[in-house]
Amino acid sequence: MIYAANFKTNHTRQSTREYLGKLQAKLMLERKPSDKVYIFPPLTALDDYESTNFKIGVQNAYPVENGAFTGEVGLEQLAEFNINTILIGHSERRDILKETQEDIAKKFAFFKEHNFEIIYCIGESLEIREQGLEAVMSHLVSQFEGIDTTYENFVVAYEPIWAIGTGRTASVEEITQTHNELKKVVDRPLLYGGSVKGANINEISAIENVDGVLVGGASLKTETFLELVLH
Ligand code: PEP
Repeated sequence: MIYAANFKTNHTRQSTREYLGKLQAKLMLERKPSDKVYIFPPLTALDDYESTNFKIGVQNAYPVENGAFTGEVGLEQLAEFNINTILIGHSERRDILKETQEDIAKKFAFFKEHNFEIIYCIGESLEIREQGLEAVMSHLVSQFEGIDTTYENFVVAYEPIWAIGTGRTASVEEITQTHNELKKVVDRPLLYGGSVKGANINEISAIENVDGVLVGGASLKTETFLELVLH
């Protein structure tokens, strides 16, 4: 299983270091060798963390080496921290930061060209979900526009927007159906994201085409994230 923690705009460099120290101590003793753990802290918390038990990635970056892009961070800045993993397409970036599919595809192509491991997020609104699986799939497929789905170093995260940070998880049936359909479209590891927590990790991780989880809220404390990783 893959366990990915998205801190969003939470944690400082100091609290991230404390978090990772606790995580490392536990994972060293208890992690299943086949599991992969990713942490996506805020950019200001990047540092010289080193561990074979987890990998640090970034929640976002600008698709340039360097240059005049006020407020953005490019490849040169990421290289200083040995970062080669990135989240692309998160619904908060699509909806709040207004990234278009074209922007996202450019970002994907750039980081693919630089051999980054990409966790690529897709997901539908509640309005689309209520129209049924066909509408959901047509929306999700549209989020692969411009994306090279044959890239060998990417993972897909299916995150229904209505389940993110709401405490409302998609049902086992909804996840099963959607992941089964998605596997026909893209032959990559498939994460589920949306209010994953200790109380639902067993049933979600038991779903056949769920290869891992992307976690926001429940990843913020080491204890609650470890409940997932070590379930
Ligand atoms: C997310 O934002 O990627 C996410 C899944 O958040 P949460 O776990 O809080 O729903």
